[in-house]
Amino acid sequence: MRKYEKKEITKVERAYLETSITCNKCGKTKQLEGEDYEREWQSNVFQSFTTHFGYGTRHDTEKWNFDLCEDCLTELVRSFKHLPDGFREG
Ligand SMILES: [Zn+2]
Repeated sequence: MRKYEKKEITKVERAYLETSITCNKCGKTKQLEGEDYEREWQSNVFQSFTTHFGYGTRHDTEKWNFDLCEDCLTELVRSFKHLPDGFREG
């Protein structure tokens, strides 16, 4: 038989704050500062993309992550034969 006494445990939690974001296409970098919500707001001028390639494709099983600034994303989208739903010139 075993008996136990209560012991208080304090857990240390760590979070990593995003410090900068860089456009993969043009290299433009924005330094992010302040609280989480401020950094998130500052990073809104970039968009993140993730894509997975399935078996039998040119990039079989690769997973790509990249970020584009608004200028590069707008330029890319304008090159589409068919503009995305919701796209507005701005
Ligand atoms: Zn860019």
